[in-house]
Amino acid sequence: MDDGKFSHGATVAELERALEHHTGARHVVGVNSGTDALVLLLRAAGLRPGDEVIVPAYTFVATATAVVHAGGVPVFADIEEHGYGIDPASAARALTERTRMIMPVHLFDRLADMEGVNRLARAHGLTVLEDSAEAIGMRSGGTHAGLLSTGGVLSFFPAKTLGAVGDAGAVLTDDDTIAETARMLRHHGRSGRTLAAFPGISNPTAVTGCNSKMDDIQAAVLLAKLTRLDADIERRAALSRRYDERLSDLPGVRAVPGGTAPRPGEDRVVYVHLVEVDDRDGLVAHLTAAGIGTEVYYPRPLHLQPCFAHLGHRPGDLPRAEAVCRSAVALPLYPDLEPEQVDRVCDEIERFLTGGTR
Ligand SMILES: *Cc1c(COP(=O)(O)O)cnc(C)c1O
Repeated sequence: MDDGKFSHGATVAELERALEHHTGARHVVGVNSGTDALVLLLRAAGLRPGDEVIVPAYTFVATATAVVHAGGVPVFADIEEHGYGIDPASAARALTERTRMIMPVHLFDRLADMEGVNRLARAHGLTVLEDSAEAIGMRSGGTHAGLLSTGGVLSFFPAKTLGAVGDAGAVLTDDDTIAETARMLRHHGRSGRTLAAFPGISNPTAVTGCNSKMDDIQAAVLLAKLTRLDADIERRAALSRRYDERLSDLPGVRAVPGGTAPRPGEDRVVYVHLVEVDDRDGLVAHLTAAGIGTEVYYPRPLHLQPCFAHLGHRPGDLPRAEAVCRSAVALPLYPDLEPEQVDRVCDEIERFLTGGTR
């Protein structure tokens, strides 16, 4: 506050360097939300008007709306049988001659099948970008999420594993040109006092900048919280294990399909502890009445959302995504949650499933 530099200042630059150190990214570009980070990444990576980008149907809406805001067309694929990430086989079926990119999402506590996605992309000359908004701390073979492809993002929305006290986000990439382009785009396309020229980029919407600067107050909060990130991640893992221990014996509660085991070489971070139950809405109502908050991730798959109705999908098109949207619910999980509170949530789930009343 004393500096009088409230936006796009030295504290933002300090956070970017700290995050480069933490993630191993060559470049971290701070912007004002995870959603904007996706839009700027897509544009900086060369998406052209009308290009198709394959995304999973089961994800936060911003994965797909970012494609639209970048001038592209989202094309939806189903999720894996044993996990919540995009199914490379379904993505392969969604290919057309307009497909230019594929954007897997690392949801909740696991990485997407990057090996499968990268293999598909190599075979068809596609660019891979990651929606790694939830994935701070997740690594594969030591490489941080967002760097398992051409680039990724981070969201610092308050509820995320590293949360600000408002909105903020970042682009992560090892690519010098993409980073430089994203840096200019977030600041009206400025390069110093003039507007930049982008010699390699033919997309007119990609060279028009916007205002997506990060606030220094958010950067200051994030720098402070970054020092306790690893401890917070451990705490989340311990609470999640406690849920697993208590709930694994309960018939009617299904953990992540295929079990909670990470992929080989994966560092798991539990951002969300998700369970599936048949009567999900009944359980949510029961827990709400007991004063326990839950979050339904996600109530409707994206291919059936009204804003994508023009793409012409029908119920049944992507059955796995649709089934999970009916049965999944996220249980309370944050570093300051007490183990006894986890026990109380589990008691109430047990009471609900065994037909007891409160
Ligand atoms: C949070 C999130 C975003 C968007 O981030 P914001 O900072 O809220 O704009 C995008 N994709 C996924 C998968 C997310 O979880």
